[in-house]
Amino acid sequence: MSLEIIPLVLGPVRTNAYLVVDQQTKSAVVIDPAWDGELILQEAHRRGWVIEQLWLTHAHFDHMGGIAGLLKGMSVQPRIALHPADLPLYKAQGGAALFGIRIPPSPEPTISLKHGQLLTLGTHTFEVRHCPGHTPGHVVFYCSSEKVMFCGDVIFWGGIGRTDLPGGDYDTLIRSIRTQILSLPNNTRLLSGHGGETTVGAERLDNPFLS
Ligand SMILES: [Zn+2]
Ligand SMILES: [Zn+2]
Repeated sequence: MSLEIIPLVLGPVRTNAYLVVDQQTKSAVVIDPAWDGELILQEAHRRGWVIEQLWLTHAHFDHMGGIAGLLKGMSVQPRIALHPADLPLYKAQGGAALFGIRIPPSPEPTISLKHGQLLTLGTHTFEVRHCPGHTPGHVVFYCSSEKVMFCGDVIFWGGIGRTDLPGGDYDTLIRSIRTQILSLPNNTRLLSGHGGETTVGAERLDNPFLS
């Protein structure tokens, strides 16, 4: 059986949080618990899914603002996965203060992600790919059996992540996209941190930043 993916658009900058379940085991992960953790938890409960893990593509506040609220409603705490290069940003509440926003503090991650690591969700395997440039510790999660990648703020439908925030670097971002994303088959679905869904093939052809 396959994965079911519920996108939720949450928070002040309309971030995509993805509630993903392995239909066979009903074990679920939240990729980027962006905002309104209570609401994400409700969605999982309503479907009878158990959130066992939180995976962060990166530690900007709009991708982690829902963690505290989510954990408050859970008796068994899920594991939290982040790349260590984004840990300073995580501990600084995701840079929220830069935007005049406050988010509640979150407990430290329990999984330290590295490039090439394999993560398991029920019967499915996801590959971690390090894609710095938007932030130093940005990663993407790729499930080859389902032909889907969760790519955070690295690449968007017709766009790329901003590189003007602390730790950002344009050339590094373009190199990450070319080596870690455009190297995948054209029919790979790209589920980004903001905006609608796209594919590797569509961005290879039409993305103005990559021509
Ligand atoms: Zn970001
Ligand atoms: Zn974002």
